[in-house]
Amino acid sequence: MHRLEFVCPACGQTIEVNESMRETILNTGCPVCTTTVSGDDFVAGE
Ligand SMILES: [Zn+2]
Repeated sequence: MHRLEFVCPACGQTIEVNESMRETILNTGCPVCTTTVSGDDFVAGE
């Protein structure tokens, strides 16, 4: 299972997430600024 990071396009917040957190953020937006995000805002972590 690979690591996944969310990088907010609006506030720049970077958060390590798992699959369920990814789904939550896609549905509810950035946890920090609530901006709407897409799958492109998730990147594989190092
Ligand atoms: Zn944000």
